Amino acid sequence: MLITGASRGLGLALARHYAGAGWRVIACTRADTPPPDENGLEWRRLDVASPASIAELAAGLAGTPLDLVINNAGIRGDVDGLATLDADDFIEVMRVNALAPLLVARALLPNLRAGGGQIIANISSRAGSIAEGMIGDDDGDYAYRCSKAALNMATAKLALDLKPDCITVLALHPGWVRTDMGGIEAEIPVSDSAAALQGLIDRATLADSGSFQAFDGRPIAW
Ligand code: NDP
Repeated sequence: MLITGASRGLGLALARHYAGAGWRVIACTRADTPPPDENGLEWRRLDVASPASIAELAAGLAGTPLDLVINNAGIRGDVDGLATLDADDFIEVMRVNALAPLLVARALLPNLRAGGGQIIANISSRAGSIAEGMIGDDDGDYAYRCSKAALNMATAKLALDLKPDCITVLALHPGWVRTDMGGIEAEIPVSDSAAALQGLIDRATLADSGSFQAFDGRPIAW
């Protein structure tokens, strides 16, 4: 399996969980040097905001079958609402959270087609749900919400397009998780979220493709 944004937070926890379950894990990070003491993981450099970096990763993995790709790398951008909405910030969040998962999925399609389980898991957010995202959550993170809503559409469209290849595509909400992004007041320890997401991904079949689920298996309305 391959995961993006594995330097810390949920990405690192997922990478550790999969490695602990005996998977070969290709952990991608944009940093030149991966975190120390992570010997069970195979590190590759990937800045998901850079199409050249994505192409370089794919070229280096030519001929390597992949059962699972997790698009986890994400950024939040400005959170202070309409008044501080900044064009460059907005575009960068869209680039990392919505466009990059599509480019990564497309670049690694040959690897997924050669793999066994064939799943693309996009780490989305309930904040991107038009139906539920503003219930009990009035944060002014326009860019983040729009990017995750776009990622959700990308998930649904990819699921349709990749059905003939029997590739399952999921949008997953990890919960409010204690990471740098989630903050120390977040409800869920990162290891618990990773374990729950791993369970969901491992149980997923083609019948689940194009769905949007929370870490606890609850379907989320788009
Ligand atoms: P963190 O901020 O803790 O970690 C983000 C990760 O993404 C880091 O590894 C970071 O790398 C990486 N990243 C950011 N930009 C890039 C880039 N251009 N190329 C490669 N890697 C990049 O966030 P979380 O672990 O909390 O979030 C993981 C995912 O879960 C995100 O998609 C997020 O939107 C989603 N999510 C999180 C929630 C939460 O409560 N925490 C709630 C809902 C969704 P680096 O160390 O180099 O900066």
